[in-house]
Amino acid sequence: VTERVDVVVVGSGAGGAPVAYALARAGAKVLVLEKGPRHQARDFLHDEISSCRRDFWVPFPEADPHTLRRSPDARAHETNAGWISQCVGGGTVHMSGFFFRFHPDDFRLRSKYGPLTGSTVTDWPIDYATLAPFYDRIERELGVSGDVSKNPFEPPRDGNLPYPPVATHPVARWIDQAGADLGLHPYPVPRAILTAPKDGRQACVYCPLCGSYGCEVDAKSSTLASLLPAAEATGSCEIRPGCMVFDIPLARAGHARGARYLDAEGREREVQADVVVVAASAIESARLLLLSRSGRFPGGLGHQNGQVGKNLCFSTLTKLEGFIPKARLSPARQAELMATAPFVGRAVQDFLHLEPEGETFGKGGTFHLLWAHPNPIYAAEKLIMDGDRLVWGGELMERMHRRFTEGRMLEVEGFSEWLPTPGCGVDLDPHARDRWGFPAARITVARHPSDRAASARLAREARRLLAAVGAEAIETLEVGGETWVLQTGTCRMGEDPKTSVVDPRGRVHGVPNVYVSDGAALPTSGAVPCTETILANALRIGEHLARTGANP
Ligand SMILES: Cc1cc2nc3c(=O)[nH]c(=O)nc-3n(C[C@H](O)[C@H](O)[C@H](O)COP(=O)(O)OP(=O)(O)OC[C@H]3O[C@@H](n4cnc5c(N)ncnc54)[C@H](O)[C@@H]3O)c2cc1C
Repeated sequence: VTERVDVVVVGSGAGGAPVAYALARAGAKVLVLEKGPRHQARDFLHDEISSCRRDFWVPFPEADPHTLRRSPDARAHETNAGWISQCVGGGTVHMSGFFFRFHPDDFRLRSKYGPLTGSTVTDWPIDYATLAPFYDRIERELGVSGDVSKNPFEPPRDGNLPYPPVATHPVARWIDQAGADLGLHPYPVPRAILTAPKDGRQACVYCPLCGSYGCEVDAKSSTLASLLPAAEATGSCEIRPGCMVFDIPLARAGHARGARYLDAEGREREVQADVVVVAASAIESARLLLLSRSGRFPGGLGHQNGQVGKNLCFSTLTKLEGFIPKARLSPARQAELMATAPFVGRAVQDFLHLEPEGETFGKGGTFHLLWAHPNPIYAAEKLIMDGDRLVWGGELMERMHRRFTEGRMLEVEGFSEWLPTPGCGVDLDPHARDRWGFPAARITVARHPSDRAASARLAREARRLLAAVGAEAIETLEVGGETWVLQTGTCRMGEDPKTSVVDPRGRVHGVPNVYVSDGAALPTSGAVPCTETILANALRIGEHLARTGANP
C-alpha cells in the first residue's frame, strides 16, 4: 500500500517547520520527512568535543560530503562547509539566535542601487510590507526578545518585540556610552531566546552556550521547541526523523507524485502527496531538485532554464576581536568587566548604508558585539602560536590563565551583503558521492569585489567602537569572509522563469505542486543574518497554501 498524505515537507528547520505548522493548523494531513534524528533535552551536552568537533550536528565529509572550489576550473575538495544541520528542527536547534528583520531596501536592491556589473542582483518579487505581518507572527509564535525601540534604524513595525531583552553584562553600558560618544546607536540585540516562560518552555537560564549547542530548557526558540510541537498538537502532522529524500518523482502532466526516500532503516519508500514542499537548506534543496531527473526535466526538477543552484549567497562575514585588560581599570570597573554574565547583547545598524566609495555600492551591514565563545579548546587553539613558534606545556597554560583572568576578549561579528554573481552556485559533483551513493552538492564560490569593500568599511567602524570601549590589541580576523551557515538564493523567487526557479508564492515554475520554502527561495542575502526572514517567508508560503490548497 502506498502511503498518501496531503502535503509532504522535506526538512524541518526554519524553512520547513512554518509550512508544516500553517498547513496542519488548517487541517491538512502533513508528513515532515527529516534526514536527521530527533534530539531530546538529555542529548544536549555542554561538551565541546561532541557538539563542535564531531558529527553531532553536521556530517563528517567522509560520510556525507559537500565539495568546495573557488574557481570553475578547479577540482573541488571534500568539506563539511555548507552543512547547517541534520536534525529535527534543522539549524534552529543549535543556532545562536541573533534575529533580525531584513530592511525595506533589502527587497529592492537592484532598483535602489541600479544594476551592478558582475552581479546578478535583483529585486524581490515581494516587498517588506508583505512580509511584515509574518515577521510579527514569527516573533510572537517562536518567542523573540529584545528592545528595538532603541534602534533608530529598525524597519517599520507594529510595536516592540514580544519579550524583553535578555539580561546583559555590565559591558553593555560601556558600549552604549562609547557608541553615543561616537554618534552611534547600539541597541539590545533581538534574540530567539525566551526571557519569560511560554507554552511549557522555560525562560533562559544564562548558561553561556547558545551557538553550536542545543538548549536543554527550550528557552531557545528553535522550531523543535516551538512550531513543530504546535504542528503535532493539531493531530494532523507527523514528523518522521531519519528519512533522506532523494527524488521527487513526476506523475501526470508535470505534477509531482510525492517523495521517494530512504527511511531510518535504509529502506526505500515512497509517499504520495498533493503538494511537495522542499526545505532542506539552500544547498541541499538545490541538490534535491537536481537529483530529481525525469524525461520532462532531464537536468533536474525546475532546472529547465538552468537556474537551480545559481545565485548562491552566503552572508559576508566581518570579524574582529580586542582584549579589554582589567589592569588599568578602577576596582569597580574591574568587577564589572569580570562579571560572568554571558550576553553582551548589543547590535549596531548605523552602517546599513554607506557612502559609495571605491568598490562599495552603497550597501553596508549590521554588526553585533559578543564575548568570545567560551569553548575552551577554541580559546586554547587561538593561543598556541607565537608568530611561527608553537606554544605548549607550561607556557600555554600560563597564556590561557592570563587570557581568562586578566581581562575579557570582546568580539564583533558583522554581516553584510554577499552579492550574487554568475559564477557562484551549487551543482552535482561529478566525482564525490554521499554514503548512499548520491552525487554530493558541489559549491563554487565566486565573489563580487564590493562584498569585501563593504566588509572592510564595517571592520573600520567596528574597530573604532571596540577601541572606544577600551579594547586593546584589536585584530581584524575576517574581512569579506564566508558565513557558511547563512545561505540563500539557489532557487531564486521571481516572476520570470528565465531568471528564477520559484514564483512569488514559492511554487517551482512549470511544476504546479512543488514549492521551495527555505533559504533557497530568498533572492538576496540581506545585511543581517537571514533566519527570521526564512521563517517569515515560509509562514507566508504555508498560509497561502492553506488558503488555496493543492491547486492554487
Ligand atoms: C552554529 C550556528 C549558529 C547560527 N546562528 C544564527 C543566528 O544567530 N542568526 C541567524 O539568523 N541564523 C543563525 N544560524 C543559521 C540558521 O540555522 C539557518 O539560517 C537556518 O536554520 C536555515 O534554515 P533552512 O530551513 O534553510 O535550513 P535548515 O534549518 O538547515 O533545515 C534543513 C533541514 O533539512 C534536512 N534535510 C536536508 N536534506 C534532506 C533530505 N534530502 N531529506 C530530508 N531532510 C533533509 C536537514 O537535516 C535539516 O534539518 C546559525 C546556524 C548555525 C549552525
